[in-house]
Amino acid sequence: MNTQALESVVVRNAVRGSWLSVLDFLAPELERAISKPGKHIACPVHGGKDGFKLFRDADISGGGICNSCGAKPDGFSLLMWLRGWSFPDALTAVANVLGLSTNAADQKPVVIRKPVFTKSKSTTDDGRLKAILRTVWLESKSVHHPDAEPVRLYLQSRGLDGWLPNWPSIRFHSKMQYRNEDGKLIGHYPAMLALIEKGNEAITIHRTFLTPKGRKALVDSPKKMMPTPYNKLVVGSAIRLGNPGRVLCVTEGIETALAVIEATGMVTWPLISATMMSQFVIPAGVEKLMIWSDLDRSCAGSLAATKLAELAKAQGVEAVICEPKGPIPVNSKSVDWLDVLNQQGPNAFVRSCF
Ligand SMILES: [Zn+2]
Repeated sequence: MNTQALESVVVRNAVRGSWLSVLDFLAPELERAISKPGKHIACPVHGGKDGFKLFRDADISGGGICNSCGAKPDGFSLLMWLRGWSFPDALTAVANVLGLSTNAADQKPVVIRKPVFTKSKSTTDDGRLKAILRTVWLESKSVHHPDAEPVRLYLQSRGLDGWLPNWPSIRFHSKMQYRNEDGKLIGHYPAMLALIEKGNEAITIHRTFLTPKGRKALVDSPKKMMPTPYNKLVVGSAIRLGNPGRVLCVTEGIETALAVIEATGMVTWPLISATMMSQFVIPAGVEKLMIWSDLDRSCAGSLAATKLAELAKAQGVEAVICEPKGPIPVNSKSVDWLDVLNQQGPNAFVRSCF
């Protein structure tokens, strides 16, 4: 057995039964899941409302599952997914927390690497999922289609212009199936679909479930991503609303992006969640990134924007963070640029960021 395999066995045995405290240390964003394994929380990677949970035996296995991102059978794969670490990175980090690294050379700080593609465990399931994604997309219609009224009414209800450019990546589905977190079919709803892409690949589809009158559907998570095929990683991707030139604007949410587009006329891509924002793959040719971040009570938005700005600068891309001015109203968790558009109008964008 080589040194790494040996170390791996030692660390695996040592961490069994202590995963919750190790995760508490290495992944504090899982705090709510750690406090009650089995309880659903928002996915730490793709966001949403309640797609993620740690397994009930998480103290022993360290594993968890997101309904969109897939299952992470043990704590190592969970950390690799959350942090973009390789297996040796995760092993070293866990060993360090447990105080197991005696070799000074092993005490190296863990560096974040590009995520590694995982091989599909179940190609049949994967094939079925890809077919479902394709079918849903083929069944969808342009947002300008007469049937797509729920999307237009929804955007208006959020204070946006109901008229959207006919981007190929935003579509309407008249009867989108909604399943709860246990996979039980709840019903069919009109939905706004958004294609999530990275490089030259479609990764998955984001859905906003609506009522026929254009309100958010009364379901647990009206915004939900479809699952991601095993051989693809959602991290790094975006919803591409238009082709960027030299400058690209980014936001977390779709509606926030539409607010930036309405106020500035600039090409703006929603990156779906704070975690996804912090690991966005900046397309070639972009020389300046304008990050229209959310102002959150938790600071998640600001942290993600700062991380992305650092990532951009490291690649020679100029980065500007545009954060809404506070204070955050007492009864809300955050302020975003859609709130700014609704409360102060488009001029506030120019005053803040140009
Ligand atoms: Zn997820």
